[in-house]
Order: sequence, then structure tokens, then C-alpha cells
Amino acid sequence: MQLESLKKIGPKTVGVLNKLNIFCVEDLLTYYPYRYNFIQVKNINDATDEVCYIHATVLSDVKVQYIKRNFNRLNFIAASNDINFKVTIFNRAFLKPHLTVNKEVLLVGKYNRLKNTFVANDIKFNSFIDRIEAIYHLTDGIKMASLTSYIKDALSKKIIVFDYIPNDINEKYHFISKTDAIKYIHEPNSIQEIKQAKLKLIYEELFVYMFKINYLKLINKRCTGLKKNFDYARIQEFLSQLPFLLTNDQISTIKDILKDMEEIKRMNRLVLGDVGSGKTIVAVAAILANFLSGYQSTFMAPTEILAKQHYESITNYFKDFDMKITLLTGSTTKKQKEKIYGQILAGEIDLVIGTHALLNEKLEFANLGLVITDEQHRFGVNQRSLLQNKGNDGEADVLYLSATPIPRTYALTIYGDLDISQIKTKPNMRKEIITKIKTENEITDVLNHMLTELKNGHQIFVVSPLIENNEELDLNSVNDLKMKFDTAFGGKVSIEIMHGKLKQKEKDALMLSFLQKEIQILISTTVIEVGIDIPNATMMIIFNAERFGLATLHQLRGRVGRNDLQSYCYLISNTNDNARLKVMEESTDGFYISEKDFEQRGQGDLFGVKQSGDMTFKLADMKQDMKILMQANKDASYFVESGLYKSNSLYEKIVEEINFLD
Ligand code: ADP
Ligand code: MG
Repeated sequence: MQLESLKKIGPKTVGVLNKLNIFCVEDLLTYYPYRYNFIQVKNINDATDEVCYIHATVLSDVKVQYIKRNFNRLNFIAASNDINFKVTIFNRAFLKPHLTVNKEVLLVGKYNRLKNTFVANDIKFNSFIDRIEAIYHLTDGIKMASLTSYIKDALSKKIIVFDYIPNDINEKYHFISKTDAIKYIHEPNSIQEIKQAKLKLIYEELFVYMFKINYLKLINKRCTGLKKNFDYARIQEFLSQLPFLLTNDQISTIKDILKDMEEIKRMNRLVLGDVGSGKTIVAVAAILANFLSGYQSTFMAPTEILAKQHYESITNYFKDFDMKITLLTGSTTKKQKEKIYGQILAGEIDLVIGTHALLNEKLEFANLGLVITDEQHRFGVNQRSLLQNKGNDGEADVLYLSATPIPRTYALTIYGDLDISQIKTKPNMRKEIITKIKTENEITDVLNHMLTELKNGHQIFVVSPLIENNEELDLNSVNDLKMKFDTAFGGKVSIEIMHGKLKQKEKDALMLSFLQKEIQILISTTVIEVGIDIPNATMMIIFNAERFGLATLHQLRGRVGRNDLQSYCYLISNTNDNARLKVMEESTDGFYISEKDFEQRGQGDLFGVKQSGDMTFKLADMKQDMKILMQANKDASYFVESGLYKSNSLYEKIVEEINFLD
């Protein structure tokens, strides 16, 4: 149903809603709230220093003070239950005309009894009874009240929203109906209703996702590819001339890959190996086999620097081969690109390494035989399939590399359509990263140690976590941190800050100058770009370490210790409950850490998983809803294998979409 059929929605509003990916009334109904306000209306006697809702009346005229540009304060006197008190609210000068004397208001904020002042963060005018209020993500041009009213109107239309959960499963788990679930999620009367609605909708999302994975698995079994012919001996010879001995896991992974490539079935393999486990050389072996079979290869990395690093190291590996290798990234000039496209189409290039630029539709291959995606969790399913469908009717072998050490059963579920090889062991030439937990009171120890490392010409990463929904405050805290370091080191050390608001290009530039040693300390609010090798960085300092999941901490720590220098990691935390962080002191083995993480919390911090485009759910969370995921997988697998899906019209459509993608 068209959005215009709802009250008060015209073309302009449609435009705004489109920005939220809402294109029809059905989309609006499945635009779910991300949290709720549980509004309990109180009078001022019951106010606490927690956020509360106070029913009050405006007693005095409102005074507005303009303190700075974009910074103002409103003050007035209000009464509640015969008590008069002062109300202060910041940056709401626009509310002044609404706050007339005797007006009833609902104040949201905290009451300071001593000062008899209520500091409000919001003032509402509409309703003064207890209720649950759904809160949605918004965008410019739309207010919460409007969105809520559109949804209310949409709910009243009694539209049928398809239920993707097969009937027998609905019965088995006593799920509520989809119609009720949609109603309850937007307009719940109780926590119980929210729970029932969420369970239903989360299961549904995960079931559909797991259906797709199980279906892909089924058709991949039948998917033919290119049967490749190459000389094993030449690959063996190449590997034996490497400056290091391969680990057992590297060898078995290479074997898996070569076997896939020889078979008529298309390779569809994921290599899971911790940071520094040596996944690149495995990809190099695959490229060689593909080259010897007379096919072109492509290697996609998530960032420009990473692509460049791969280009340099891979070119070096193949220096004795007559292999034409080229780099294609966003900063390749248009003219160069055109030239490269021509060469690739003419079959003059054997291997192209690059970024998203490889997805450009103008890029066509003469004879593509192998597609490798590094740090696969950073790309969505559609991006990946775009690349593999270039040339040879989508028959090219596909290899994904990923540094997400997650427990095997879990990997088998969420990557159920792929064959998996794991590299568990790390090359043992490396020194263990020495990890220590410190409180902020012990920061002097850390500063002294930093100074020693800097004096030795080494570099340091500092990470300070995001404080949710408050990026500005966040940046302040990072700026403070920089100032503290500047003071501590007498301003003689070059320190830069990298944060989430920077453009990718700016981040790349910062990483590059860090790589070139122009920056000595890099402070970052966001998780530092994955995969990049800064061999000279020997120290990682993570503030508020307790805020990160173990797997993230582990991945961050993996940014150091990338050569044979002794490296260190400091986890700064003021909490006493350090059991989780102690795991980090104990071990540097990613698989061990992720198993512990699952054990301790019954869920894992699957870094990366959330970022990937193919796993963006509206409600479900891969981490928190793991149990539901596992169950949905069992049910979906039965649904696929039994062929039950064939008699379900909704799934007919999904299957069509998947086949079309392929
Ligand atoms: P990642 O798995 O994080 O992508 P890389 O492939 O970048 O790891 O390897 C990290 C470093 O380890 C590289 O410098 C690589 O040359 C080196 N390396 C890889 N395999 C071995 C090995 N078996 N022994 C020693 N060093 C190795
Ligand atoms: Mg890598």
C-alpha cells in the first residue's frame, strides 16, 4: 500500500521516509522501535535523582538566556502537588511560546531536592498517564511524534503483513500472530507484549536468514565450476622457497583449496584465521594454482592501504614469475582505470588487487577463475556475488579470508553455505604480546613505559571507546587524552586522533602517515582499520577496556606484535570485575578467547559480523540472540532438506530472488 494513502503524508514526507528505507505502508509497519520509554508519571514528591516524568504546571513566565551560539538555557517556575520548584532546560529556546503560564507539562529529567531544581532534558505536552512509548531512529525532516502518528494510522488500516514462519513452527512454539506482533512492537501495553512480539519477529528474521543459508548450501552442492589443471610440483617448489616454514594449519588449508580448485564443483571456501595467522600466503598459493591453470585472479580488500600492502607483498612473492599484476583502487585515475579495464578484458593482466573499485560494472574479465575477498566480514553478500559473477558465468572459484575467530559450531551456522578451513596456530617466531590490566591511577607506569617505547623509535596505538549516542562528548574525551599525552611528553611527540566522523580518505591518510612513522601515537575512537600492518607499532593501550567485548579487544591487540619486536598491550579499566579482561592477560589465542567469551556470557562478541551487509537485521542481534539463531537454523535446515519450502508461496519468491542473484 502506498504511503500517500495515510493521513498527513504528502510527497515531501514520502521523500523523508524513503531516507529511512520506508517505501510503502508495509515497510512502515516493519520499521521497528529500537527502544522504549517506560513512562511512569509522578509528582515532584516522588521524584528521585534518576530520570523521571513529573506532571507539573507552568507558574511563571519563561526566561531565556543565550549563553553562546547554539547554546541557550530556559528557566521557569513550575508547580507539582503544591510544591513550587525551578525548572532548567538547555537548548530549547523554541519551546518558549508553548510554555505559557498555567500550561500542563510533563517534565522529563532529574530533580535536585537540595537546590529545589529540576533539570529537564525534555518537556512533553500531550499525555499525563502511564504508558510505554516506542522510540524510533529518525532522520532530518521527521519528528518522533509524526512518525508515531503515521504508524498509528498504518496500524488502523488492518493490512495483512506476511508471516514468514511456517504454520507448524508457529504452533510448535506458540508464537503470537504476525498481526499481533506488529501491533505489540509499536504500541505495547506491557513488557510481556514487547517480549512476545520480539521473540516472534526475531525468530522470523533469523529463520528467513537461515533458510537462505541452508538453501545456498543446497544449491552450492550442485553448482558447477571450472575444473583446473595445474602442476602440484611447481606449487610445492614455490612454497618450499618461502623464507619461512608453513604452519600445519596453513598447509592443510592450502590442500583444501587446491583440492577444491581441481574439482568440477565451484570452490566456495572461507578461511578463518586469527590476525597474524598468515592467511595471505594461503591466498597466494591459490592465485598461483589459478595462474598455472591459465585463469585470471582478483583479490579484493576492504581498504586502500590494505590493498596496497597486499599488492606490494604479493608482487614480491611472484617476482620470479611472468605474472602481470595490477592495483585498482579508488585513487587510480580515470584514465589509468580505463586502460586497466582494457588490459583485463584483453586477458593481459593475470591478477588484479584492489578495493570496492573492483566492483565497477565496467570491469570485465577475459577469463576470471578465482575471486578472493580479504576480511570478508566487511563486505555484504551482494558485493561479493557481484565480483564473483564477473566472467565465466559465475563459475569462478571463490575464497574468503576472515579474521573472526569464532567457535566452530557458530561459524558452521552463520557461514553454513561455505566450506570452512581454520588456521588455528600462529607462526611461532613471534613473541607473545605482554598484556597487563591497569587502573587509571596506575597511568604513570603506563606513561613511563610509553616513553621507553617511543625512545626506541617504536609507535603506539591508543584506543578510547565510543560513548554511545554521544559522539561530541566522546571527541572531547579523546581530545583531553591527547592533551594529557602532550603534557606528559612535553609536546615533543607527534600525536594524531582518528575518529568515526572522518571520511574514509582521511582515515586512510592518517593510517598512511602512521605507517610512514610521521605519527608516533595514534589515538582512535573507532576500531582501527582491520588488517593493516604497522610492524613498528609495539604498544596498544585501550582505555575503558571493560566496554569492549573480548573478541574486539583481541582484534585490537592484534594490531601490534606484527613482527619480532616485543609488543605490549595495556587494558585500562577501573572496574573490579576483571574476570573477562583477565582472559586477555592469560592468552593471545583468538579461538581460545572467543570460546571463553561464549562460556562466560553465553554469547560472543562477534566483531565484524554486525558490520556486514548481509546480516543487517531489523531486530535480531547475532550476538544476543544466538540461541534463537541456533534453533532457527535447525528448523530452517529441516524446512529446506524436507523440501517443505517448495509448497510455500512466500519461499518460492525468496528462492527466485536467490537464483536471480546467482
Ligand atoms: P593475516 O592472517 O593477519 O592476514 P598475514 O598473512 O598478513 O596474516 O601474515 C602476517 C605475517 O606473518 C606476514 O609478515 C607473513 O609474511 C608472516 N608469515 C606468514 N606465515 C608465516 C609462517 N608460517 N612463518 C613465519 N611467518 C609467517
Ligand atoms: Mg590479512
